[in-house]
Amino acid sequence: MPEPIRKLVIAGGGTAGWMTAAWFARLLHGAPVEIVLVESDEIGIVGVGEATTPYMHLFDRALGIDENDFLKFTGGTFKLGIEFVDWGRIGNAYHHSFGMPGRDYGPMPFHSVWMRNALSDPADTLAAYNLQTQAALHGKFMRPNGANSPLADITYALHFDAALYAKYLRGLAEDAGVRRIEGRIEQVRLTADGSIEGLSLTEGRSIDGDLFIDCTGFRSLLLGEALGIGFEDWSHWLPCDRAWAVPTAREGAPLPFTRSTARSAGWQWRIPLQHRDGNGLVFASAFMDEAEAVDQLVANLEGPPLADPRLIRFQTGRRKKVWEKNCVAIGLAAGFLEPLESTAIMLIQKAITYLQYLFPDQGFSAADRDLYNADMSREYEIVRDFLILHYRANERSDSEFWRYCSSMPIPDSLENRIDLFRSRGRILEVPGEQFRVPSWLAVMWGQGLRPAAPDPLAMTLNETEVTNWLAGMRDVIARCRDHMPDHADFIARHCAAQTAH
Ligand code: FAD
Repeated sequence: MPEPIRKLVIAGGGTAGWMTAAWFARLLHGAPVEIVLVESDEIGIVGVGEATTPYMHLFDRALGIDENDFLKFTGGTFKLGIEFVDWGRIGNAYHHSFGMPGRDYGPMPFHSVWMRNALSDPADTLAAYNLQTQAALHGKFMRPNGANSPLADITYALHFDAALYAKYLRGLAEDAGVRRIEGRIEQVRLTADGSIEGLSLTEGRSIDGDLFIDCTGFRSLLLGEALGIGFEDWSHWLPCDRAWAVPTAREGAPLPFTRSTARSAGWQWRIPLQHRDGNGLVFASAFMDEAEAVDQLVANLEGPPLADPRLIRFQTGRRKKVWEKNCVAIGLAAGFLEPLESTAIMLIQKAITYLQYLFPDQGFSAADRDLYNADMSREYEIVRDFLILHYRANERSDSEFWRYCSSMPIPDSLENRIDLFRSRGRILEVPGEQFRVPSWLAVMWGQGLRPAAPDPLAMTLNETEVTNWLAGMRDVIARCRDHMPDHADFIARHCAAQTAH
């Protein structure tokens, strides 16, 4: 029988490293497995992942995190979705909100019935059927309240301060027994069969282990550099490769959503926290140089900057394998898809969960490894296609960047989805996908894609009945929205940030 894993070494203490440490410390509590995390304060963390998806609740619940305490600690706010401004075309704005819009009409999906009406009546907006969008537009928030109404299904994610998040996770992990080692990894030592034997640190220290998790960020020190696993570059589909990031002073009440505003060679984010706003310009250096980009960001800030803008360079794509020998890469060390839909922390969670199901012994089953690599490839590709959609489906012709995006070749998987939608408004539902029908609908419709004709079955329905049914639904959503408290009041009552922030 192969020996069990007795020592788990996590290299890197950013969001990926500490999430992994906290998770496995909890899972392996009481088992004879030592968990060690090594990180270097001198190198630091990327420190920009501040917006999430609702998937995060699964992680928090499993770790027993009290959401109010968490938000107090990290100065966090609630996120009902993302507002896309000037995407598709200048002057356009739409929300990709969480949760379901409307409800199904008997056996017919909501979107088929609604689109039949909306195709002939542009005033019939998707926003009117999604409670999250309505709440976002009116600055409202509450958690689901269990009533028999759309209020029971409120779906949300969180915004938080990335540096405080890493600190919070570190506290959880250390309390659960993870040993942190401060030091810089100088060398990754390999065995004769090419597995990792240990890490050599500055001042001659060394850490050996059985399973190594590479969370060293973009450099991918273990998987990429030491084990030589190459990178699959997706920048021809997602050309943004730089970001300037800068915090600004909080002015007015924090909005319960992330805002993404398209700019001439990329887009600008604004993430509202309780104590500040996070801002950044994500841009393509092939279309705009760094100096012009920082000027554009600073010119479009809504509050006074609290620090100098910081430049982050990245490459979009993923490692060809994320598990090789006795090393699994998680987080930026495994790959990166630009932050347009705040998916990186979700992918970290996915990586951790799949690893839990396929947790190895020292025999390192090749079948398990292959399955893990296939699962993670699929996860990255789904997110990739969803992001490309935002760029490809645009009617902007005001800059070379947008002209490139609207004519670039795209993966067949995405081409197929767009063709289906353009024909009869059909939306492919793939089991297990993070982005479900409402997300594809919000972005395809929001970016300006329209079907040539409605779903033929929807055309068989009685027009007056459909119109009345839609009006009734809009009314219910509006009344639920009116019942909700202001986002700022909700925060003040339940989770106001600790004054130290
Ligand atoms: P890092 O934070 O870079 O951590 C790497 C760790 O490795 C550090 O502790 C470092 O000290 C250590 N290390 C590296 N080399 C060595 C060495 N030689 N010796 C010892 N230690 C070493 N994600 C989201 O989910 N939502 C968002 O809104 C979002 N926005 C983003 C915006 C931008 C512009 C970018 C670039 C990313 C964004 N992300 C976002 C992604 C998110 O920031 C990362 O996925 C997340 O922070 C995890 O990073 P990491 O832990 O993999 O790497």
